Amino acid sequence: MGVSTTGTVLYPRTMVVVMAPGATEEEIAHVTRRVEETGGQAFVSRGVTRTIIGLVGDLESFHGLNLRSMAGVQDVYRISDPYKLVSLQHHPERSTVHVGPAGRQVPIGPETFTFIAGPCAVESAQQTLEAAEMAKAAGATLLRGGAFKPRTSPYAFQGLGLKGLEILSDVREVTGLPIVTEVVDARDVPVVAEHADMLQIGTRNAGNFGLLQAVGECGKPVLLKRGMTSTIEEWLMAAEYVAQRGNLDVVLCERGIRTFEPSTRNTLDISAVPVVQATSHLPIIVDPSHAGGRRDLVVPLARAAIAVGADGVIVDVHPDPEHALCDGPQALFGADLRALAQAVRQLPPMVGRRV
Ligand code: PEP
Ligand code: MN
Repeated sequence: MGVSTTGTVLYPRTMVVVMAPGATEEEIAHVTRRVEETGGQAFVSRGVTRTIIGLVGDLESFHGLNLRSMAGVQDVYRISDPYKLVSLQHHPERSTVHVGPAGRQVPIGPETFTFIAGPCAVESAQQTLEAAEMAKAAGATLLRGGAFKPRTSPYAFQGLGLKGLEILSDVREVTGLPIVTEVVDARDVPVVAEHADMLQIGTRNAGNFGLLQAVGECGKPVLLKRGMTSTIEEWLMAAEYVAQRGNLDVVLCERGIRTFEPSTRNTLDISAVPVVQATSHLPIIVDPSHAGGRRDLVVPLARAAIAVGADGVIVDVHPDPEHALCDGPQALFGADLRALAQAVRQLPPMVGRRV
């Protein structure tokens, strides 16, 4: 059993037994006695017309009691999150995920603030190296870059595929920055895992359960973006798919959701950060580039992410946004990137994080 920061006791697994109106004292006592015999606790709460009994302890043994068939019992409810492995109840300490080869691992978790940057797409060796050098000079410790691009249009640039992965591996050797890159097809998981330090699941695949299971078995950390129409619970269930296959190294990424507001590409749900932190132990970062879709919004949204308690940000940078093959309008360069570098250096220590 854990205790949350507000002092509330977190019951890892709870059940509530609702007694029928008119249940006798003997029937109530029978339920509590049977629960206590399993080592659990029963809290009886008497209302005007009916009595409710809260059970705390091992849910599996309560199931064995067959409570629903006992005399005087009307209903039995299970009160626990639909996800388990990613739940804070399962794991009351916040997790840190380590990305990269032994010796140069980058932590993403509650103590630090992690800055991830790179091009939206790997377009060429030259462009990727230049973007990686810009990212590194700005203070980024992980490099992002898409080799397999999930594009809305089949006519848009789809990424360089395997060639893109090779470019990323080469750029990691030159810059020392571990890489995070997207996988869009379960069949590509092994080859992406061979090259990348962290596998990204994009918003369009946040409900692709076969792909989630495949990255759950890949042996590398996973960056799981929120589906653009996913509720927070659906997003955590997606993370549960990964965890359930044995991979608990999952970092969540809020990247904006679809709303009726057209002035931004997506609406950054900044409240998702503390909401997730109240229910899951997984680290959570913010992508202000894909949320706003506009260069001028990246720095203000990144500042908001730091202030709200995110564990990091991931942003698009490009040496020549005007000629970018993907998402040029949101890519940072020049003065905007310098402003972001300053924000990620100065603000996290003000909220108790190491940079
Ligand atoms: C990306 O990060 O390159 C990307 C495609 O993001 P999203 O899945 O959030 O749209
Ligand atoms: Mn993009």
